[in-house]
Amino acid sequence: MNHEFQRELEVALDGVRRASIVCRGVQSGIDGEAISKDDRSPVTIADFASQAVVCRALKDAFPDDPIIGEEDAAELRGAEGDNYLKQVQKSLENSGHSTDADTIYESIDCGNAHEYADRFWTIDPIDGTKGFLRGDQYAVALALCLEGELEVGLLGCPNLPFDHSGNSRGTIFYAIRGQGTYQLPIDDPSAEPVPVKVSQENDAGRMRMCESVESGHSSHSDSARLAEAVGIGGEPRRLDSQAKYAVVSRGEAEIYLRLPTRPGYREKIWDHGGGVLCVTEAGGIVTDAFGRKLDFTQGSQLLENRGVVATNGPLHEKILAEMEALGIQDKYD
Ligand code: AMP
Ligand code: MG
Repeated sequence: MNHEFQRELEVALDGVRRASIVCRGVQSGIDGEAISKDDRSPVTIADFASQAVVCRALKDAFPDDPIIGEEDAAELRGAEGDNYLKQVQKSLENSGHSTDADTIYESIDCGNAHEYADRFWTIDPIDGTKGFLRGDQYAVALALCLEGELEVGLLGCPNLPFDHSGNSRGTIFYAIRGQGTYQLPIDDPSAEPVPVKVSQENDAGRMRMCESVESGHSSHSDSARLAEAVGIGGEPRRLDSQAKYAVVSRGEAEIYLRLPTRPGYREKIWDHGGGVLCVTEAGGIVTDAFGRKLDFTQGSQLLENRGVVATNGPLHEKILAEMEALGIQDKYD
């Protein structure tokens, strides 16, 4: 048994679990926040609080590791920030975390690296902010990358059921390269990790596809054409965040398509690092729309890739070939 990266996993799991619980507290309105569509404050507060919790944990354990994160504390420090800061402090206090302003600023800013390094972490403190605001799926996503390879990946999915019992909301997925993918209930730190595997389905007609809820993040029309050409049965399952990678990794869907909606957009590494390793370690395949491996050596963006195709395997090549035949990639720059 390979025991590499156990310390990294332990620290990351603890940080992602605690951040997931803070986010859940904000989302459920425990902090007195009314969540409405046109009010971004709950997501802003949870974003900052989540990044503060995870980055603090990483910095305390691995002080030399750069962290490429989605947020920095500039907005919190600015003129508008005082009100936000108080609410971030409250949301952290409610979950038993230390809350002095300087520690919060400093922790969030630990995550403001931008450049590629031989060893770095990347964090999306709340991936799927639209889902968070709608009360749907979102994820706390974290990955460790070494010399361009994803080594550790985690997804905290506070609204994804752990099993089919109906009363088990909240799952953490984690993967270490070469050691498989596992899931744990968010609320039970002592639970035994359960290995997960991608679906064994190889009949297109029975395959299930997932994609973004937001048509601005992935082209619904291109995926519908592609699904028809490949013969994939059924309606796509739409869910926000890297929960899509999570459902592919545990075999609840066979395909996740992320097809560019406009030239020029480059995927962000924090939107993929955690999820990609969870799928590949569960036995699946992840490439871009041209069949290339995702390249995490380019700083905060996947500059060398276009779109993402994640599958359980059997139809991966066929999907890429049909995309080409339909001319879908022709519009990517
Ligand atoms: P999802 O929940 O799958 O819709 O993805 C959410 C992520 O989409 C956010 O974290 C953003 O970084 C990312 N995003 C924003 N604009 C775009 C875009 N035009 N194309 C693809 N992804 C985007
Ligand atoms: Mg994101």
